[in-house]
Amino acid sequence: MTLLTVENFIDGASCPAQSGAWLECDNPYEAAPWGRIPRSDAADVELAVAAAHRAFKDPAWGGLTATKRAALMNRMADVITAHAEELARIETRDNGKTYKEMLAQLRRIPEWYRFYAGLCDKINGAVLPTENPDMMNYTRHEPLGVIAMITPWNSPLMLLSWKLAPALAAGNVAVVKPSEYTSASAVRFAQIVTEEAGLPAGVLNIVTGLGAEAGAALTRHPGIAKVAFTGGIGGGRQAYMAAAHNLRPATLELGGKSPNIVFADADLEQAARGVVQGIFGSGGQSCVAGSRALVHVSVYDRVLTRITELADKIRLGDPMSPDTDIGPVANRAQFDRIMTCISWAKEDGARLLCGGGAVADPKGGAALFVAPTIFADVDPASRIAQEEVFGPVLSVIPFETEAQAVEIANGTAFGLGAGLWTRDIARVHKIAARIEAGTIWVNSYKGGSHISPFGGFKASGIGREGGVEMIHDYLQTKSVWINLADEAPYPFPL
Ligand code: NAD
Repeated sequence: MTLLTVENFIDGASCPAQSGAWLECDNPYEAAPWGRIPRSDAADVELAVAAAHRAFKDPAWGGLTATKRAALMNRMADVITAHAEELARIETRDNGKTYKEMLAQLRRIPEWYRFYAGLCDKINGAVLPTENPDMMNYTRHEPLGVIAMITPWNSPLMLLSWKLAPALAAGNVAVVKPSEYTSASAVRFAQIVTEEAGLPAGVLNIVTGLGAEAGAALTRHPGIAKVAFTGGIGGGRQAYMAAAHNLRPATLELGGKSPNIVFADADLEQAARGVVQGIFGSGGQSCVAGSRALVHVSVYDRVLTRITELADKIRLGDPMSPDTDIGPVANRAQFDRIMTCISWAKEDGARLLCGGGAVADPKGGAALFVAPTIFADVDPASRIAQEEVFGPVLSVIPFETEAQAVEIANGTAFGLGAGLWTRDIARVHKIAARIEAGTIWVNSYKGGSHISPFGGFKASGIGREGGVEMIHDYLQTKSVWINLADEAPYPFPL
């Protein structure tokens, strides 16, 4: 079979890596390679950062009025809408997540560009009062410059857009290093917004390759004004250290070990559905996967029975089929990681209720599937309750008191999301204030919007994405002082 070739997108044009090296890309459902992407390194990053710097200064971008920049971003939204199915198919081919999930994401991505387009002409400084009537002082909010964006494989274009939309609205330019598993959609995205929406060449550059090579070269490049990273803790720490070395800011969206807390007064059917959807939606390959369920002892057995029944109904199969709930695991490394985590749970004495291992590819091929897995009676301090699995594995932990639930919920390094299941409104507010997490859902799980900030407490991240204020993460403030008098007010005569 001929492999398709995807190239870097630098300065508005496609090009291979300078070294001529390539990486193979697999389709996880076919368990076969479909194409190749450039294995870029520092030389390619150099070209992309230089192109971005030129675009930043070029009047075609840097000279655009706010109104014109907003119009361009709205055209980008139209182009994404027109290509949603194509882009979703590319993502499903690369990461094995269901087409219906990737398409739903693609249908919402334009909202991010429209929302931040609306902010373009609302970036304004202020004239400030001064102590000296002859002195005028005003502020300007200016773009930072070239933003390095590093993205993971689970929701490639959605997580890129969370960064790119506010960055462009603020007038920045970008160099993106997408995940080596899912680079094709970012490259295609850059092509269509350049060719069809008129984004000037060099404003959005895509350099593909490995995290330790292209990613590391990008984050440590001195020409980068800010690093915006989404991924795991290991890569996030490296990216943060690279930014710190150059004294540049960084935002990090990292992993989680998010709890769903089911109190005795909850609507237990809704809670059970929320717990099951929260962990097994996207096959657990979601940063906010509800990978721990903390359940009050008085309803513990009932909840265990119901979530096991619901988990048994989950359909594994072809991610392109509308009847599939979970596709294959995205890649071999991820599959091995899930298997390791399952073996920890078994070794540490957790009680297996369902799943617990790999499932044969239903079409008889070599695709890697993992059965929805539930462990009960999990020790909150054990490895399976502490470490992010990023797969379809739920740890259920009983609790007796509210205080105990909060202590267990907060007892990991992470703090991304949490679900509360209760009908007691006073408890909702009390517990929502005590949980260390960036997002709390009450009687629902997951969901969010471009209007609302999203991000992590503790090791789940630094900074937020989404919402009006986040545009300031892509701006810097300049204070301008003007002497209106004939002579400047110096401290001593000369
Ligand atoms: P990953 O950390 O392996 O890779 C993410 C990106 O970082 C990739 O592009 C990778 O090439 C790059 N990278 C890796 N090492 C690097 C380095 N030293 N320097 C620069 N770049 C480097 O993560 P993944 O496996 O692609 O994604 C899964 C992880 O992402 C999970 O931990 C998940 O929780 C997290 N995630 C977080 C959010 C969020 O918004 N908080 C959203 C989605 C995924």
